[in-house]
Amino acid sequence: MAEYEFDLFVIGAGSGGVRAARMASSYGARVGICESYRVGGTCVVRGCIPKKFFVYASHFADDFESAVGFGWSQTSPEFDWKTLLANKDAEISRLNGLYKQTLSDNNVDLIEKRGVLIDAHTIDLEGRTVTADKILITTGSWPVLPEVPGIEHVITSNEAFELSEWPGSILIVGGGYIAVEFAGIFSGLGVKTTQLYRRDQILRGFDQDIRDTLATEMRKKGVDIRVNSDIARIEKTASGLAATLKDGSVIEAELIMYATGRNPITANMGLVEAGVELRENGAIKVDDEYRTSVPNIFSLGDCTDRVQLTPVAIAEAMAFSATQFNQTPTRTDYEDIATAVFRQPPVGTCGLTEEQARDNSSEVEIYRSEFRPLIHTLSGSDERMMMKLIVDKDSDRVVGAHMVGMDAGEIIQGLGIALKCGATKAQFDATMAIHPTAAEEYVTMREPVS
Ligand code: FAD
Repeated sequence: MAEYEFDLFVIGAGSGGVRAARMASSYGARVGICESYRVGGTCVVRGCIPKKFFVYASHFADDFESAVGFGWSQTSPEFDWKTLLANKDAEISRLNGLYKQTLSDNNVDLIEKRGVLIDAHTIDLEGRTVTADKILITTGSWPVLPEVPGIEHVITSNEAFELSEWPGSILIVGGGYIAVEFAGIFSGLGVKTTQLYRRDQILRGFDQDIRDTLATEMRKKGVDIRVNSDIARIEKTASGLAATLKDGSVIEAELIMYATGRNPITANMGLVEAGVELRENGAIKVDDEYRTSVPNIFSLGDCTDRVQLTPVAIAEAMAFSATQFNQTPTRTDYEDIATAVFRQPPVGTCGLTEEQARDNSSEVEIYRSEFRPLIHTLSGSDERMMMKLIVDKDSDRVVGAHMVGMDAGEIIQGLGIALKCGATKAQFDATMAIHPTAAEEYVTMREPVS
């Protein structure tokens, strides 16, 4: 091992890479890491964190309106994009500094250059060469754009975080959680928003009931969702852009944003030349220990295209470091991952959808509650909340929990623990409610729906 400069060299300092580097170093390994853009990666720089700031910002519009029913006088607050952008940038820079400090505190050698494999143990860093016994690729993912005439005029989530001017109207293309969240951000901040999706309902893969409920709530909030629609071409106009759909209709907007999926960043990195096998979409093939087809090269996170979420990349990084550098073979558990879609109202989900549960088991019981949250009895808003439990009748286990409504992410995180522990419906029923909350519905739903 001594013949190499590092025991581990990590390419890509995002969620997975930084965690793997600092854990391996804490176990005594000599670790280096390189980063071609900004330390912290997608989540910190142009993903989860800045997006959540934008979601908070967009929510104030609802809050100002709701406050009137509680006796606050009507005001007409104005939104200033430049202030939000500057405050977001300052916080991201602070986090970027913290990540660098963490690496330094953990004796990880950070090299802010792009890494390219020369061979299985050698990496080129824009002219400097380093060698390592083990190499970990954590290069993340990048938005995919389809081949549509005029596609060069559109933006992706990357640019949405840096807009120099705030638009008056936007067309968002895509039906996944990033498209849905940005539709909520823009419409909440007063932008005329249209969301276009080529399939029959947004949020494919989520519980059907959740998809339908969310689409209804989004439309109530003014998002013009058009499903079964696809763009044929995009052209510049005097006032912005015009998208001609395949059915011949035209939608005009100042901006068009595509959120139609993300592909792993693995091209032109010497991976194939070094013998690392890729899947068709460029994802790095790995086994349960994150080992690629080259025994000393490992990979995890978005570039392996399994579950593209920050906590998953971090869990994989912890498992990798413990297995390789702490003699503790560890596997990541991908069951019952709780997730949220940060919309107004948000979605929270954990475990099986009703459709998946029905495919798995002959006897499924559904508990469902839909109601107007207490706050809206005075605010006057017609926003509704929907909560749902999926129960396997044979075992009485709760196999899925889903909701659309205020604080969904916070509530479902707690339920995620219950599902992980294998909680039964009887145990949910035996849990005392916190009154008055919306979450108490989860322990008071007594009758299954027919
Ligand atoms: P990344 O964090 O992307 O890190 C990869 C790093 O490698 C990058 O910094 C990149 O610059 C660097 N790199 C690439 N190539 C090289 C090279 N050759 N040399 C050196 N460095 C290189 N997840 C959630 O859990 N919750 C959310 O709310 C959420 N919201 C999101 C919102 C958006 C808009 C997006 C795009 C993503 C969101 N995600 C969210 C997903 C989450 O950001 C990713 O799953 C997570 O960042 C993956 O971590 P990673 O370590 O695999 O890759």
